[in-house]
Amino acid sequence: MHSAITIALSKGRILQESLPLLAQAGIRPEEDPLSSRKLIFSTNRPDVSLVVIRAADVPTFVENGAADLGVAGKDVLMEYEGNGLYEPLDLNIARCRMMLAGPEKTVEHAARLRIATKYVSTARRYFAAQGVQVQIVKLYGSMELAPLVGLADRIVDLVDTGNTLRANGLAPLETIAEISSRLIINKASLKMKHRQVKQLIDLLAVAVATKRDGAFSGARAESSSEGTGSGKQ
Ligand code: AMP
Repeated sequence: MHSAITIALSKGRILQESLPLLAQAGIRPEEDPLSSRKLIFSTNRPDVSLVVIRAADVPTFVENGAADLGVAGKDVLMEYEGNGLYEPLDLNIARCRMMLAGPEKTVEHAARLRIATKYVSTARRYFAAQGVQVQIVKLYGSMELAPLVGLADRIVDLVDTGNTLRANGLAPLETIAEISSRLIINKASLKMKHRQVKQLIDLLAVAVATKRDGAFSGARAESSSEGTGSGKQ
């Protein structure tokens, strides 16, 4: 008999990029979570349902067994202080960098830098490891605004294209971590529902590898056609 398995996903980029991986692993929600306001979705697999929640809540749901599996950004996992999670697979989606950024033009600041971020613990650890004393200003969003209005000297935030930084007169200074989404598993679920959970991890690992190899063969095709054209340069 199959136990019920719940997978926690979060809205936005992670949901958009997780659904094709899940489909590749044979799991399709019966309604489109991208357009529905529902929070829980049954799937074509009678034993698997999905819940769609806030990104920062995914580890809490999984650690407490409200979901067996989850997809969470490494940024959220670095900030989450728990130890009841397995992290067996890098899903290689929603990639970006966590960066320290500051004004493009150097400006005076007090000896103790003020850092605006929602990643309070991660930022604290990063500066502590460098022996730099900072004051952390906790924000929930729009970090880029903080240096412009004198609330902070620098920010720690996620950067993808760098467009948001540039649009606000900020420049990237240091990379704190490379970020991608990870599959996380409740420890008890891995023991109690081992066969089903292990099968899902394996199916998703194959889906990740298939996507990666697809991208690689595309890249090879491009570079070999470029190679032919550039032979005489
Ligand atoms: P960009 O302008 O492309 O550098 O994107 C930066 C904005 O998108 C910032 O507000 C980030 O917090 C957000 N962002 C970038 N990448 C991600 C991601 N992988 N997950 C969540 N938010 C992201």
